[in-house]
Amino acid sequence: MERFEILISAQQIASRIKEIAAELDETFKEEVPIFIGILNGSFMFMADLLREVNMDCEMDFIKLSSYRGNETSGTVRLLKDISADITGRHVVIVEDIVDSGLTIKFIKDRMMEADPASLTIVSLLHKPDVAKLDFAIDIVGFEISPEFVVGYGLDYDQKFRNFDGIYRLKEGPEDN
Ligand code: 5GP
Repeated sequence: MERFEILISAQQIASRIKEIAAELDETFKEEVPIFIGILNGSFMFMADLLREVNMDCEMDFIKLSSYRGNETSGTVRLLKDISADITGRHVVIVEDIVDSGLTIKFIKDRMMEADPASLTIVSLLHKPDVAKLDFAIDIVGFEISPEFVVGYGLDYDQKFRNFDGIYRLKEGPEDN
């Protein structure tokens, strides 16, 4: 573990998730929203968040792959679509981290095509110094500086997703 430095502990995440869940309970107390988790990174956040909310809700997952050519361009490819019909439904997107904003923009545009009743975006982490978005992330767990982090669903080379907190890597990758 000497390669890693703790940035956000499991306890900090758990208490922030309780606050987010309370906010969502209040917003959707009269509705049955569909939570859509973005695989793979949001699996742990999705599971913990849904254990804390009290409203009736449904869930689904979407999987994307993103390739970033450089700072300003990149492509996002759909690997697994949602199964649910979200037309006229209240949709809550659950993302692990918003970095350049490319992934969340792709998802938002795709979801809006189906004409949902509302779209709420929740991201556990947000790097506001990096993201160039023309819309707001409705709920952000923690704003972090533009450094590469792992754990709590987030990987480096597919590893470290199982850590219960968020860590910064003390060495590599050179370029995230
Ligand atoms: P964006 O499209 O906003 O640039 O990036 C979103 C995706 O890039 C996230 O869903 C995540 O998979 C990955 N990503 C962005 N920043 C980090 C980071 O600091 N650590 C890890 N492990 N993945 C990141």
